[in-house]
Amino acid sequence: MKCHDAKACVEVCPYAKKCGGCTLQGVPYKEQLRIKDQEVRKLFKGICDTVPIVGMENPKNYRNKVHAVLKRKRDGSIISGVYEAGTHRVIPVDSCMIEDEKADAIIRDIRDLCKSFKIKIYSEDSGYGLLRHILIRRGFASGEIMVVLVASSPVFPSKNNFVKALRDRHPEITTVVLNVNDRQTSMVLGTRDIVLYGKGFIMDSLCGCQFKISPQSFYQVNPVQTEKLYTKAVELAALSGKERIIDAYCGIGTIGLIASRNAKEVIGIELNKEAVKDAIANAKLNHNKKALFFTGDAGEFMLSLASEGEKADVVFMDPPRSGSDEKFLSSVAVLNPEKVVYISCNPETMVRDILFLKKKGYRVGKVYLYDLFPYTGHVETVVLIQRKDT
Ligand code: SAH
Repeated sequence: MKCHDAKACVEVCPYAKKCGGCTLQGVPYKEQLRIKDQEVRKLFKGICDTVPIVGMENPKNYRNKVHAVLKRKRDGSIISGVYEAGTHRVIPVDSCMIEDEKADAIIRDIRDLCKSFKIKIYSEDSGYGLLRHILIRRGFASGEIMVVLVASSPVFPSKNNFVKALRDRHPEITTVVLNVNDRQTSMVLGTRDIVLYGKGFIMDSLCGCQFKISPQSFYQVNPVQTEKLYTKAVELAALSGKERIIDAYCGIGTIGLIASRNAKEVIGIELNKEAVKDAIANAKLNHNKKALFFTGDAGEFMLSLASEGEKADVVFMDPPRSGSDEKFLSSVAVLNPEKVVYISCNPETMVRDILFLKKKGYRVGKVYLYDLFPYTGHVETVVLIQRKDT
């Protein structure tokens, strides 16, 4: 979705133009919702109806995951912020209207501490320096806060004193992790995590289940809206308690574990092995013996289930922005579930995938919209796709 008329706007964020994250910056919230409704309705025209979007009561400071990139300026001062849209230039951002305010305050203090502890800031040009990024995650329900310091080396001078000084300023921080990323890459996180303080993960709860979230795992950034979305997804499946469910692209197992309360069995599949470790731990934490989680490509996994003659009653699928693939979708058709509940963060790829399933003997219900990302052009959708003969 494109940037809208700045003159008609209210309250424009000073970083809006350069940051590019909030393409609906300055547009009144009601109007943002109308725009999203209209765009999704247009996309699904002739395919299925859409239900008006569910917005937020308070659409600000909703992001429970905040990322800042660090940079040392020529005059020696340190800035933290975001990359200017489409570049690797860093724009200083002290506080952002969609980010958790506490997280922003912690980032400002880390920047400050870097000066007093003489921590060298990494330079993407020369590859010299230590600290590259800061990532903060806050459990909405638990209040637990994880600070991830992304550094180019596992050797962080005075790390214990640094953590202590940070916790003196923010005693609410429950864990601090040093993530080592020594590659010249645009990926924020490296693969190695060293716990400096606390348990190395945070807990949060969604729809009455407990979830462990590690630095590397995907977790929705807007928990208030996520609860509404997942509740709708499970409601659409209308489970009786006898079903075998597949939770594809399952992350830390959120949807599968929530749905399993009304099902017989859950099989989760996810590419990220750290997320799968969390999902397995989450099954235990919730005393759930019905759910099994596997690491792998969802399409490959479905293909092998289909070739082994396995069946499923309901498939929940929640793929990344690029959507699913033919391997996955044609295997769904072989597994022949009565229902597919498709959750998507990109309605364009969702339309493509729905059209594929329609050709395989499925009909599609109404698309429900949830605003998980106010001020940005993104929208989350969920739809029930059902076998025609049911
Ligand atoms: N359902 C989860 C995660 C959704 S995000 C939740 O609601 O929290 C999409 C997830 O798909 C991410 O965890 C990502 O790691 C995973 N993923 C991406 N490509 C994949 C693939 N080819 N096979 C399986 N999982 C994949």
